[in-house]
Parts: sequence; structure tokens; C-alpha cells
Amino acid sequence: MEMPEFREKLTACRLCPRLVAWREEVVGKKRAHRGEAYWARPVPGFGDPEARLVLFGLAPGAHGSNRTGRPFTGDASGAFLYPLLYEAGLSSRPESHPGDDLRLYGVYLTAAVRCAPPGNRPTREELRACSRWTAVELGLLEEARVYLALGRVALEALLEHFGLRKSTYPFFHGAHYPLPGGRHLLASYHVSRQNTQTGRLSREMFLEVLLKAKALAGL
Ligand code: SF4
Repeated sequence: MEMPEFREKLTACRLCPRLVAWREEVVGKKRAHRGEAYWARPVPGFGDPEARLVLFGLAPGAHGSNRTGRPFTGDASGAFLYPLLYEAGLSSRPESHPGDDLRLYGVYLTAAVRCAPPGNRPTREELRACSRWTAVELGLLEEARVYLALGRVALEALLEHFGLRKSTYPFFHGAHYPLPGGRHLLASYHVSRQNTQTGRLSREMFLEVLLKAKALAGL
């Protein structure tokens, strides 16, 4: 499967009834975005198809990428992440808006679950269902050398993808595990508002991990 076919098939996916309902139910429920058109479908990854570095998140935000259709775009997570990608020299501009000409350099963004879940918490079944798309999407990124998991759930989804045991590769901020074939698996706290506005994850902390990932990827 090529990337355009993947995107077409993915965006038609309705495998998880709870998420199919939720991604549409939240439309217009936030005052700031009332009356706006929402994407309200599975959100495909975004970035460089030749990426050497893959950032792997949890799931679309109900009023972020579920609204805009681009990962980490339109909510607090993206407002934290995109300026730091730019500061690290990995993108063409410090902000992301749907329809803009933003380019990521050697980087691709995606997530373990591609439809917005209630409370940002996908169930185990939903994670398992969406792992089939992870297999296709990561398989298409043939140049990828470094995978940066944002949060514990994302790390565990990547471990499952690579057939590795969770107990051998525990989650902590700054974790770095070599993978076969000269590849690397890194982990950071997720860039969610819950972490960035409580001080659990600072700009400096994330930039440090990002620059390490960039160096390991040879970018
Ligand atoms: Fe399909 Fe993944 Fe969305 Fe479930 S979360 S409906 S598997 S795209």
C-alpha cells in the first residue's frame, strides 16, 4: 500500500463504534469553535514521507486534530510542540494551521489511536484495533531510524508494534532503548496541557529529548 491509498482507507475507518460516535458528538461542543467545520474522522499522520524521526503520540484531541485533521494542530499540545520542532530546526515555521505550507524536515507525526477518544483515554480494544493502521503507516516510513514515544501508552503501542516486552522497556521521561538494525526508541512525557501546564514537562525538557532524537536520526 502506498501513502495516498493508506490515507484514503484510514479516513474511511469505522472499526471503533465508541470513537466513531465521539469524534462526531464533540463537534461544536466547545464555545471557541462553535460553528466551525470539524474533520471528525480518523487523523492520518503528517510530515515527511522520507522521515528518519517519527513522533508517536496518543490520539487526536477532540477540538484539536479532530477539528483540524492534522496531528497536534489546533490545541494546547500543538501550541507547545510545533514551536519546539521549529527551534530544533525540524520544520519550516513555528506554528501549524490546516492548509498552510508547513513542512517538517525528516520528521513525521502520528499517534497510536487515530480517532479522538472520550477523556483522551482509548480502551485496550481501541488501541488494538488501531494497531493495524500503525503497522501500515510505520511500514511506509522506510527511512525511519528513531521513534519518539510521547507518553506511556504511546511507548507501549510502539513496543507492541516491534514485538517487545513492556517489562523490559519501562516508560520514563528520557528513556532510550536501542532497537535492532541501528534504530532507536525514545520516550518523553506527552506534550499535553496536563503535563506542560503543571510543570511536569518543560520546554527545556522536551527540547533536550527532541535534539537527542534528531542527532540519533542523523538529521
Ligand atoms: Fe479505525 Fe483507528 Fe479510528 Fe478505531 S481509532 S475507528 S481503528 S482509525
